[in-house]
Amino acid sequence: MSITTERARELAVICHQNHRSLRPAPRPHDQAKLAARAAGQTKFQGSICANNHGGIRYTSTGHCVECTAMHRNNRKTKESNNGKK
Ligand SMILES: [Zn+2]
Repeated sequence: MSITTERARELAVICHQNHRSLRPAPRPHDQAKLAARAAGQTKFQGSICANNHGGIRYTSTGHCVECTAMHRNNRKTKESNNGKK
């Protein structure tokens, strides 16, 4: 092992620079989201969600519209149940 501390430091810097240049490429549905947002739309056609909905998502959050509506309804139901006691 003949590597010097200086050389190791150099390599570490190069490695660090490489990591910095490796920006994550925007995924296709992100591009669709950005395009829709730029067009002033609140929703866009994204990838199909975990619950197998059509893939219409909000440009603001990227969340599935149907899932969001579902969660909202669930919360409302829970709240009204809590209110009843
Ligand atoms: Zn969904």
